[in-house]
Amino acid sequence: MVVMSKEKFDYFINGEKGKYEVVIGLEVHAQVLSNSKLFSGSSTKFGADPNKQVSLIDSAFPGMLPVINEECVKQAVRTGLGLNAKINNYSVFDRKNYFYADLPQGYQISQYKNPIVGEGKVLLDMPYGSKEIGIERLHLEQDAGKSIHDMDPSSTYVDLNRSGIALMEIVSKPDLRSPDEVNAYIKKLRTIMRYLGTCDGNMQEGSLRADVNVSVRIVGDKKFGTRCEIKNVNSIKFMQMAIEYEANRQVKLLEEGKQIDQETRLFDTKKNETRSMRSKEDAHDYRYFPDPDLLPLKLEQKLIDDLKKSLPELPDSKKERFIQEYGLNSYEANVLVSEKEISDYYEEAAKLSDKKLVATWMMGDLFAMLNDKALNISNSPISAKNFAELVQSIKSGDISGRIAKEVFEIMVESGDNPKKIIESKGMKQQSDPKELEKMINEILLKNKDKVDQYKAGKEKLFGFFVGQVMKLSGGKANPQLTNEILKKLLKG
Ligand code: ADP
Ligand code: MG
Repeated sequence: MVVMSKEKFDYFINGEKGKYEVVIGLEVHAQVLSNSKLFSGSSTKFGADPNKQVSLIDSAFPGMLPVINEECVKQAVRTGLGLNAKINNYSVFDRKNYFYADLPQGYQISQYKNPIVGEGKVLLDMPYGSKEIGIERLHLEQDAGKSIHDMDPSSTYVDLNRSGIALMEIVSKPDLRSPDEVNAYIKKLRTIMRYLGTCDGNMQEGSLRADVNVSVRIVGDKKFGTRCEIKNVNSIKFMQMAIEYEANRQVKLLEEGKQIDQETRLFDTKKNETRSMRSKEDAHDYRYFPDPDLLPLKLEQKLIDDLKKSLPELPDSKKERFIQEYGLNSYEANVLVSEKEISDYYEEAAKLSDKKLVATWMMGDLFAMLNDKALNISNSPISAKNFAELVQSIKSGDISGRIAKEVFEIMVESGDNPKKIIESKGMKQQSDPKELEKMINEILLKNKDKVDQYKAGKEKLFGFFVGQVMKLSGGKANPQLTNEILKKLLKG
């Protein structure tokens, strides 16, 4: 993953650092999580054989009429609420007219002048502070089918399974200033929609794609530069690479005294460059007009209010609560609310043990193990309850941090309860001061010569005594207590 810091992204032009800044606005296409399509009953399930999920509506048979899917409308409203946006009680579906082989209607049903959701905002946590990104609008529209060019050398195939699936187009204001911010923005949108259950955010399956608008300007300029729009980028890494390439291309042109043409461009992932597709079309080219087959969408305020009441706790407020309730710092809280399942796991474990220690062990050993095994928290081999018990055993002094790592490994392999493992393998720490003192006295008696040397100033012998205690206890002596008692007895 390329992660570019803000500093690294400043341009060096003619020896001047940061002469230009990049301005980015995203049009994110998020597939609505729903069983059926926006205007038909066909399934939206991913991975079906080509053209197996296509109704007469999706294939634009004459005389077929679209019927709006109420669940998709509710999903759009929920998402709008999650983006702190204004929900419009009145919105209109328009026809956006253009020809493409995978668009059988010859137009896409979208929303133009009156979208279902208006202005909103999203908060980003950046290393230099929190930053608000404006949302311009969110509208509902149909997805097109898919043209497959690489199955046959002389023909193109069309798969209409996607045709008519509901998309939410979420348009940001041109508030983003670096590839890093774009990374944070997409992740935040995805987190919010996953909490809401309105989009699965699966970029490999195409559930989340973005058109990336990029322009550059000299720092301090009030006016934006001419933008280019890079179409349909489907991974965060590619978005970042495309922005970097495009910003550099534009800066170079400006430095040569040339102009930027407003264009639609394509990111070539193999060559890592953008190239021109076409000069930018204007809205009037699409001949938008209200779809005569669909009535304007009127939402009763009560429906909006009810949906608002039924929203789950969202990441921003959960983060605040984690800081207040569990004493986490902002960084820890951020990580632990990044996925709903992670936050649930944390809360379940934190309630059973030390809140801070649970966070530390989760973000350390647990995440490293999941990452290693390419697992999610939902299919973690260690349950939240067992995890809490492990942390509790460290907290209570039953086992040391070092032994805990061994227990952890066994838990991963066996799924067993930590208490059981500690017991059956005799891993419990020796933390009884009386027992330890007895053992240490024995060792000191046996090594009188070394004790004398130590007292005479050979302090590095301390390690030798610790080693002896560990040897005699089979590695189970509580290290901290051992140190304390040794120091005390060696002084005497
Ligand atoms: P269109 O639908 O023609 O692409 P919009 O007005 O809907 O046009 O804007 C699309 C996106 O372009 C928005 O996300 C907006 O923030 C972004 N944008 C607008 N002007 C600029 C600019 N000068 N530089 C970068 N992004 C911009
Ligand atoms: Mg656009």
